[in-house]
Amino acid sequence: MSEPVSELAVRAEKLDAADELRGSRDAFVLDDVTYLDGNSLGALPAVVPGRIEDVVRRQWGELRIRSWEESGWWTAPERIGDRIAPLVGAAPGQIVVGDSTSVNVFKALVGAVRMAGEGRDELLVDATTFPTDGYIAESAARMTGCTLRPVAPADVPGALGDRTAAVLLNHVDYRTGRLHDLPALTAAVHEAGAVAVWDLCHSAGALPVGLDEHGVDLAVGCTYKYLNGGPGSPAYLYVRRDVQDRFDSPLPGWNSHAEPFGMRSEYEAAPGALRGRVGTPDILSMLALEAALEVWDGVSVEAVRAKSLALTDFFLECVERYVPEGGVECLTPVAHGERGSQIALRCHDAGAVMKRLIERGVVGDFRAPDVLRFGFTPLYVGFADVERAARVLAETLA
Ligand SMILES: *Cc1c(COP(=O)(O)O)cnc(C)c1O
Repeated sequence: MSEPVSELAVRAEKLDAADELRGSRDAFVLDDVTYLDGNSLGALPAVVPGRIEDVVRRQWGELRIRSWEESGWWTAPERIGDRIAPLVGAAPGQIVVGDSTSVNVFKALVGAVRMAGEGRDELLVDATTFPTDGYIAESAARMTGCTLRPVAPADVPGALGDRTAAVLLNHVDYRTGRLHDLPALTAAVHEAGAVAVWDLCHSAGALPVGLDEHGVDLAVGCTYKYLNGGPGSPAYLYVRRDVQDRFDSPLPGWNSHAEPFGMRSEYEAAPGALRGRVGTPDILSMLALEAALEVWDGVSVEAVRAKSLALTDFFLECVERYVPEGGVECLTPVAHGERGSQIALRCHDAGAVMKRLIERGVVGDFRAPDVLRFGFTPLYVGFADVERAARVLAETLA
């Protein structure tokens, strides 16, 4: 017995046919699973395995030490930073790749407080932040003699003052998918004479960020979510050009020295974004990331954003039509200007519900205590995936 095809399934097919990013899906290794967890671990770009094979067998296996020069290993952190730059609205020369997001949050926050100057001894942190940012902010505050004040992003303007040294905010909330107002909040932070630090983990690769345009001072982000760099791929640190001379890294390793091979006993920071480097870069992960970023060739972030909003709008519509009243509660703002690229639904017994969804080929994730997260990566998620996810969710809840 075949079920009648719903009107929404027909719509999904039409939307997929008209989707200008449809072809991007072929650049990834995917099966018939509906993968809505790219906001946790992006799918594998098809170009990566062959590149890694070459990096290991030829660059490492045959060229060995020569690859630091001849295969461009030494300059990979800044070269790959420049490849990420257009995706976050940054001109070249302001981003280095390396270390984890957690480590870069530390560099950025201590650097921000050192930049802020005399008499400023308060550090504000997004009270709803992803935990690691909060833990590190607490330690950074303790180390720099600052008081840490957790504040909800919307309350930041009212909490700023002439003692505020720096403010750490998440561009998109990892749990609810709420997009915070980066231009307005950055302007408010600057108005108070403080330094603005943004965490872009859940926005880079999903929507335009405009770091240069909005005058963000420092920013960090991971590369294994919407940038598809692979498990534990290195993070990045953005230091705006006109604050680079004042960026005093708390982790001044030999890789950020002005003359790394001079082997001098006294430290002298390299000019520019390079001073965000620390030690020897993790070349295998870094070059996997470099290959993964090729999926962005010819893709505009604006097109990605437009599709992301269309996907999440369509998901909300399908959920509303398929899921009985009261089955789920949406935590993600409905207004486009306040929405990232995920939908968070609160429901009873969410952990068990997500387990069932995954068994039925719809992969999202569960965030304690009661949230189902569905991430929409426009490069490889289509409208038929969206319709299927909502339909299977409704069947599971029933
Ligand atoms: C994913 C994520 C991190 C991850 O930090 P790691 O050091 O890479 O483990 C940090 N902050 C936010 C806001 C995140 O979403």
